[in-house]
Amino acid sequence: MASVLVCGGGNAAQVVSCLFASRYKVTSISLYADEAERWDKAVKEAKGMTCNFQGTNKAVNSMPDLITKDPSAVKNCDVVLFTVPSSFHEQYFRALEPFVQKGTIFAVMPARSGCDFLFKKVMGEKADTLGLAAFETLPWACRFNDWGKTATVLGTKESIGAAVVPPVGKTKLDVILKLQGLLGVEPKIIECPNVMSISLGNPGQVIHPGVTFGKWQNWDGKPLAQKPLFYHGVDTQTADVLEGISGDITAICKGLKGLDPNFDLSEVKTIMEWYMASYSTSIADGSTLQKAMSTNSAYEGLCHPMKESGGGYVPDFHFRYLSEDVPTGLCFSRGVAELLGVKTPTIDKVLLWAQEKLSKEFLKDGKMQGKDIKDTRAPQAFGVTNKKDLCSFLRIKSEP
Ligand code: NAD
Repeated sequence: MASVLVCGGGNAAQVVSCLFASRYKVTSISLYADEAERWDKAVKEAKGMTCNFQGTNKAVNSMPDLITKDPSAVKNCDVVLFTVPSSFHEQYFRALEPFVQKGTIFAVMPARSGCDFLFKKVMGEKADTLGLAAFETLPWACRFNDWGKTATVLGTKESIGAAVVPPVGKTKLDVILKLQGLLGVEPKIIECPNVMSISLGNPGQVIHPGVTFGKWQNWDGKPLAQKPLFYHGVDTQTADVLEGISGDITAICKGLKGLDPNFDLSEVKTIMEWYMASYSTSIADGSTLQKAMSTNSAYEGLCHPMKESGGGYVPDFHFRYLSEDVPTGLCFSRGVAELLGVKTPTIDKVLLWAQEKLSKEFLKDGKMQGKDIKDTRAPQAFGVTNKKDLCSFLRIKSEP
């Protein structure tokens, strides 16, 4: 029987722990403050977490075998599942590294961008003996109802893209079969040819900073009486921003193909293609991106992250839509573009605005050289500072 270590303690980690614990030996680890202790207490009080599947009578009640903050627990696990926001991936990789055994597979959901750069940096020489599966997103949309006790699975993806780097001695298929066995029938894992496809195809980097910028770039600073809708509030100007970021990413793909026509980026979708592939059944009108987003029933009622202030609501720019998706998404793509000499006008505009809201400096004087670059997934943060180094990391043909 598979033995799984689930990393994190938020919506995703608790739901995955509950779903998998009904079938496998599950250890859950949270390194965040006293979260492991609180979670253990809550789930035991409730006699197991209950996950309800929206729109069905299905419910799963279960609890992990162990909830801990001790990273040595990884010694006994053959699969490690990252379901913590990508801002904290490095913390978990670093804590687990001293104890991890050869052959262990790290499945990162979602990987966001540049996960392989981080994995190699932290695991060093051990990296080749370990497996990495970088997933494009989380298989489930899920939210707590009562922290540690009940949650709702709003939907399960039918299919999900993943790029696999197997441990020495195993094949990609070995890893995919093992992970598919864990997930069950849905979602079906679609193999992507390389981690760069997952990194550039990361939809979070387009949607979250793009919609936030579109909504708040001209905000007058006054509190709002109500929280505005995030997806259903997208107007045509905001949709243009998303298409602009997506267009910049397409240009980066062309830049990479220009280096090596055989480098396969066919799985990197435009944002419109991604929406239609992911939500075709819940979108009422797919004639434009704006309509596809504003008529997607899967996103009904989801609001911009807001804080109460001055008798109303103001945007929370430190929510993960910027604090996660800018450093581990847009910064990666902008960094790759720079190494390739590709211009990214929309990404630059959104990145400059967002870094100010986050009180960070990533892009400085037109280059990824700001003082906070080390906290990002830009290749520059890993010492990859020219086209040759990038080609060597990606194992693609370098220019003569
Ligand atoms: P979440 O916001 O619930 O995660 C919060 C957790 O992050 C905390 O419980 C804690 O474990 C950890 N954390 C927060 N602050 C920390 C800190 N300062 N130091 C260390 N750890 C800290 O997120 P989620 O909903 O569980 O989502 C996890 C990932 O999956 C995110 O990348 C999210 O974008 C992605 N995702 C989630 C959904 C969903 O439906 N929940 C859907 C698609 C993608």
